[in-house]
Amino acid sequence: MSDRKPFVGGNWKMNTNRTSGSDLARGVTDGLLQLDGVDVAVYPPFPYLLTVRAVLRDRGSSVKLGSQDSYFQNDGAYTGEVSSAMLKDCGVQTVLAGHSERRHVIGEKDELVNKKLRAVLESGLDGVLCVGETLDERLAGHQDIVNARQIRTGLADIPGSLLDRLVIAYEPVWAIGTGKTATPQDAQDAHKQIRSQLARLYGEEAAQRVRIIYGGSLKPDICADIFAQKDVDGGLVGGASLNAGDFVTICKAAASAAKAK
Ligand code: PEP
Repeated sequence: MSDRKPFVGGNWKMNTNRTSGSDLARGVTDGLLQLDGVDVAVYPPFPYLLTVRAVLRDRGSSVKLGSQDSYFQNDGAYTGEVSSAMLKDCGVQTVLAGHSERRHVIGEKDELVNKKLRAVLESGLDGVLCVGETLDERLAGHQDIVNARQIRTGLADIPGSLLDRLVIAYEPVWAIGTGKTATPQDAQDAHKQIRSQLARLYGEEAAQRVRIIYGGSLKPDICADIFAQKDVDGGLVGGASLNAGDFVTICKAAASAAKAK
């Protein structure tokens, strides 16, 4: 059995509405009532956080409430932004930083991702740092360099004492929402590199404790082989997290894989 409890996040992106978000949260909590051996979080859009929180609370669920983004300032004249303190106030427990769509669609750079992640962890919330190479970077054989840079910059000035609340999501950009997945071996190779990078930054023991999850078109039929890899500790799920049954199956597969390691 792996020492690292797996983590599975459902990133709803800019999908659902108040009704369908509640239904989805209900489907997930009901499907996971009996499950232990995996930490699960859902990341609804900002306007539905409180609605989803109410569903999770009503059902006494251990599924965590997550936010897809946050800003690094606490409050002030930052129109349109939402701080970690505000998210905490709404019951959020975990926040994504540097999701590939924030980096490549909205244009966030490593330095901004770092400021956001630091603010999340310093405020007492859990943080998920998302990293991953584009297709061009992979074709050029640069995936390890890119991931190492995103890890080094993303974790700058973050002390080892905050690592217990950090998850790293390796999400090759070419696999997100495309229906293409990394092979289990490609995922393992990238995760191993990322763990080595963490060991260089924080020492081997700390690196062994950090959960590194895979994201990129995870589906119920292919997730088990990826979760079986030594350094894969669960997944970040986009499209398939919009179907409660599929998401629950993926969470269960992560728990089973960890037991078998
Ligand atoms: C994601 O949003 O992080 C993701 C991996 O999306 P998808 O599963 O749809 O590729």
